[in-house]
Amino acid sequence: MGRRSNRRNGAAFATGVAYFLACALTIRLTRFEGGVAFMWIANGLLTARLTTLMPRNWAAPLAACFVASVLATATLGLGAALAVPLGVVNVGESALGAVLLHRYVGRHSGLDSHRWLIIFVLATGIAAPAAGAIVAGASISALSDHSFVAAALQWYNGHALGTLAFMPIFMLVMRGEAWRLIRRMRRAKLIELATLMGLITLVAIATFSQTRFPLLFLPLLPIVLATFRGGALSTAASIVIVAIIGAVLTVRGYGPIALMDGSIGERMQFFQLYLACAMLTVLPANAELQRRSELFRQLRDSEARYRLVTDSSTDIILNVDCDGRLRFVSSSVHQLAGQRAETLIGRPLTELVHPDDADRAMATLRSVLDDPTAVSVNEYRGRTASGDSRWFESQSRAVMDEEGNVTGLVSAIREVTRRRQHEERLAEAALTDPLTGLVNRRGIEHELTRLLASSDGGCVALFDLDHFKRVNDTYGHFAGDEVLRRFAVVARSSLRDQDLIGRLGGEEFAVLLPDATIEQARLVCDRLRQAIGDARIKVGDAQIGVTVSGGVVTYLRHEAPEDVLHAADVALYRAKHAGRDQLALAA
Ligand code: GH3
Ligand code: MG
Ligand code: MG
Repeated sequence: MGRRSNRRNGAAFATGVAYFLACALTIRLTRFEGGVAFMWIANGLLTARLTTLMPRNWAAPLAACFVASVLATATLGLGAALAVPLGVVNVGESALGAVLLHRYVGRHSGLDSHRWLIIFVLATGIAAPAAGAIVAGASISALSDHSFVAAALQWYNGHALGTLAFMPIFMLVMRGEAWRLIRRMRRAKLIELATLMGLITLVAIATFSQTRFPLLFLPLLPIVLATFRGGALSTAASIVIVAIIGAVLTVRGYGPIALMDGSIGERMQFFQLYLACAMLTVLPANAELQRRSELFRQLRDSEARYRLVTDSSTDIILNVDCDGRLRFVSSSVHQLAGQRAETLIGRPLTELVHPDDADRAMATLRSVLDDPTAVSVNEYRGRTASGDSRWFESQSRAVMDEEGNVTGLVSAIREVTRRRQHEERLAEAALTDPLTGLVNRRGIEHELTRLLASSDGGCVALFDLDHFKRVNDTYGHFAGDEVLRRFAVVARSSLRDQDLIGRLGGEEFAVLLPDATIEQARLVCDRLRQAIGDARIKVGDAQIGVTVSGGVVTYLRHEAPEDVLHAADVALYRAKHAGRDQLALAA
């Protein structure tokens, strides 16, 4: 604890000494006609120091700088009477700037953000020096023969411009960022920046040592270059170089500023305005550059993650522009579709899709582009190198630019052929009788319902094997099954192409005969009955003969399916009762 507070007091003392030197320098260089200094960088130094500390640690540096300010004013400046009041104004002004920065941008925010820059200008370029100027102007006009307006204006200009021009470099140095940035730089970069600083020095000397041409714009060129190449540190360092060279030469009456009419004090103030403008020209550019390089870094990170995912995934990832052309295809397209990713770039998306599904794929593209918030999931057949039909599932969403305009879509595509086959098998199974391969009761009901809704009429027949129990009892259940299978084959071969036979259950079958008159149906069904009766079904050594009875009915459009089946069942019952191996008709 003791050691830490010693260190703190030592740092506060150093800040005080630096503050005194900054005061002494600017008072000696820029105080003319007995007024306040035209240029004031000391408060920028103190404010910068405060931004590196927690507010509870501000007391020591504020006290040290108060003493420094009092000493400087008393010995070099306006004299003992004003030393204490101006000391209070100086530290008050610095504290106000630091409080505003602390409050609105936080202690760790750097020079590289637009937000920091805006608050920096408002707090330390406008609010704090304006408040200081009012109190200082009042004190000076009360205790000396200077006018309030002149003293306040001069104070404001000197303090605002001095802080804007110098505080950034003080901040970078005090936070250790300057040193850190230099250490992190590669040799080539250091040499480049050192060369640039040398260039700025030469240009500054050339500009401020001649008094013929108004060349003030000239140093801006290397300053802008330094900012683009080296960021905030280069900016701040170049401003300091130009400030020192420009101030020394301007005070001596050299340089383009000597061309202007006005007192030396006004010239120094103009010079300070020049520096502040230079700083405020390049710092926003720097903030924008930093923002972009941060974006660029994030983009590289996300690109690396994305690569990792796409390269290790068997899924295909692809980007498509608004016209349906491929902008990116991951390498896994080769495994799945047999095409090389590079050769697909710029080709239409539909080249990956089966021709029959191409329209659907384009419709999906349009729907995703129309509703950028939605994720669209679809299944398509792919166009594969081998030509076999493979199913793919795509999940697509829109890609938007910074302003929210849709620029295309990104899709993750995976193969779902096996799932698709499985589903198709299940769908088939739901309507198919596994023993005979005919449609089952559900299939028949489904088809009958469709016929009743759409066709103008036709016939339905129900068949039931005669005395089938005996077949089972005599030859066994296995033989019974074989008889049912043979029945299906023989029956199907007796029917017309448009007729449909299904197994309703047990040894009961239904035949749908669309568009058949009762007479046509009777012919077809009788052919079936005879074919069954004639067939000798071989199971092992046995030759099994069976007969079948049938009930045939007509149906009309919009009849209920269960009514039609019931009528056929009644007819079948009559056929059984009439002695089996025959048909009964109900027209
Ligand atoms: P009928 O229709 O002429 O009145 O006499 P039936 O002996 O055919 O009488 P019923 O309809 O009562 O008997 C049907 C028999 O069919 C009963 C059952 O053992 C048999 N059966 C039902 N489903 C199957 C099957 O999937 N395989 C075998 N092997 N037999 C079945
Ligand atoms: Mg039967
Ligand atoms: Mg039966």
